[in-house]
Amino acid sequence: MMNKFLGLTAMGVIALASCTAPVEQETAQEQPWIVDRFDDIKVIRYEVPGFENLTLQEKEYVYYLSEAAKCGRDILFDQNFKYGLAIRRTFETIYTEARNTAEAETAEFKAFEKYLKKMWFANGIHHHYSNDKFVPEFSEEWFRGQLARYINDANRQMDNDYLCRIIFDKELYASRLNQKAGVDVITASANNYFEGVTQDEVEAFYGAMAAADEGNPEPISYGLNSKLMKNEKGEVYENVWRVGGMYSAALEQIVYWLEKAATVANDTQRATIEALIEYYRTGDLKKFDEYNILWVRDTESNVDFVNGFIESYGDPLGRKASWESVVNFRDIEACKRTEIMAANAQWFEDNAPINPAYRKAEVKGVSAKVITVAMLGGDCFPATAIGINLPNADWIRKEHGSKSVTIDNITYAYAKAAEGNGFNEEFVLREDDRERMRLHGKLSDDLHTDLHECLGHGSGQLAPGTKGDELRTYSSTLEETRADLFALYYLGDQKLVDIGLISTLDVAWAQYSKYIINGMQTQLSRIELGKDVEESHMRNRKLIAEWCYEKGKADNVIEIVEKDGKHYVVVNDFVRLRELFGELLCEVQRIKSEGDYEAGKALVENYAVKIDPDFHAEIIARNKALNIEPYGGFVNPRYELVRDSKGNITDVKVCYDSKYVDQHLEYSKNYSFLPTFN
Ligand code: ZN
Repeated sequence: MMNKFLGLTAMGVIALASCTAPVEQETAQEQPWIVDRFDDIKVIRYEVPGFENLTLQEKEYVYYLSEAAKCGRDILFDQNFKYGLAIRRTFETIYTEARNTAEAETAEFKAFEKYLKKMWFANGIHHHYSNDKFVPEFSEEWFRGQLARYINDANRQMDNDYLCRIIFDKELYASRLNQKAGVDVITASANNYFEGVTQDEVEAFYGAMAAADEGNPEPISYGLNSKLMKNEKGEVYENVWRVGGMYSAALEQIVYWLEKAATVANDTQRATIEALIEYYRTGDLKKFDEYNILWVRDTESNVDFVNGFIESYGDPLGRKASWESVVNFRDIEACKRTEIMAANAQWFEDNAPINPAYRKAEVKGVSAKVITVAMLGGDCFPATAIGINLPNADWIRKEHGSKSVTIDNITYAYAKAAEGNGFNEEFVLREDDRERMRLHGKLSDDLHTDLHECLGHGSGQLAPGTKGDELRTYSSTLEETRADLFALYYLGDQKLVDIGLISTLDVAWAQYSKYIINGMQTQLSRIELGKDVEESHMRNRKLIAEWCYEKGKADNVIEIVEKDGKHYVVVNDFVRLRELFGELLCEVQRIKSEGDYEAGKALVENYAVKIDPDFHAEIIARNKALNIEPYGGFVNPRYELVRDSKGNITDVKVCYDSKYVDQHLEYSKNYSFLPTFN
């Protein structure tokens, strides 16, 4: 039902390629792929190879869809936090005024600038990954001085005192997404998907809808495109995101550009776009399903896109979807890889190490391709995933199939930005492991992503009577766990050699070492000391690695080696590790198929959440010494229409000259359509 989005968003933390040169030299080196660095973030530019080779019509199509992709940015700011737009606008006003004064040289201003850069990156004042509210490094006194100087009745967005409380009071709106066991996850979360309602009220509201829809083979994704709130009488209702409803001003712009795109689309694309527009106009989720069915059937068009309320990671109950967009086109050469995979989809399903009753008898419409991203928007920007698998509705996936893509130019940019950062030298103990990662790292990552997206999420089926929402707050983590296990298990299968995807199982072993080291160790550097693991993909990796460590202990499958006061995670037995992946996959599939909430909860809580504090402190210190930002995101390219003397469009040019700050100020100026409060 949800969460089919691969979130290896921060995979810059794993060096895809490594370098034997000393770290000191490397950090001093010019890195042209990185355009900005601040706090725990590096901003990377990506290129769009092959854009020049598109037809003029396709280029125009990309251009219009890209404009549509930029128009939903405000929606996400508002979804993430009710005061998100007010704060962004206030900060931008102060920033653009003060940066040309002597004030710009002060430490307070620089700290303020850093906060604003973080806000743009997170589309709000809560960290995009940890969901924790940012801690300002400028003083309230200084900030009040700026408010007094630059904010007046004409440009004031909200009450200054309350604004200061939000920024400086640590407890207020502390987390965007709080899923701690035992709390009311709705009232404890600062997102703007709900207002004035409790978790019990939300569950009762949607429980009643689900009950009324009982037995419908085509259940709609209730709640996906609305804010749940209360009217004056205290009745719970949905404020629907549609033209004429909530977020109308932004959606109208999106529709405008979609209509332009339709004028240069092929017939299939046009029908798909028209269905999407119809959905935006009505807010009718049945129309959204119709759109998804058309979209998933279009496997022929070269240019494709995602545009809508898609993923529900931001809602603690996994129902409300954030707005996002990705515009892309086919990477023809790399697609040969996923075509082989798709052609063998049924074999993979039939041989999955799970209860045969939970295998799909007939795998339908697995469409997998490798794409080149041309534009990122909404919840895919600046941080983005490296793979997409949609649509999310289970019944559509079952009846009509799903589309699965891996994004090659983004992984390429990550790899480029990570070159020579010294990461593998620090965390990978054995030279033969490092050598395998050097030789096969990129391919093993690509194949892991392909298998996860193309086959993993689409595999398996529910037992009769299981609805699919039984796992509640644990569903995202368990679903990602399932897809990753499927990918890991098959990556080490001789079948991959037989069908020509890899020439040696060393590719798999490279991924196995890397995955376990990341799951048990290196990914933890992204979490503040003393905090738990919260994000689903991080939880899933930790779950898999820790479970295999424990279950393989007797055979020393995974070993923690201490050397010179440092701890290293080492995989000693790849073949046995693969068997453990299979065993865990069997159990996680059973949990999903049967909707076994208690078993799912136990797996997540026992293996995926808690971190040993000493171990954690060591990893943070070692990672810090490397000076590598754990998170990465992107600046978009710019597209320019080229016209002849009569005004006809003759070409579309792609430019890579965007800077991080300028791009966000430009987007706020030219693509901001919503009122401050919605
Ligand atoms: Zn996934």
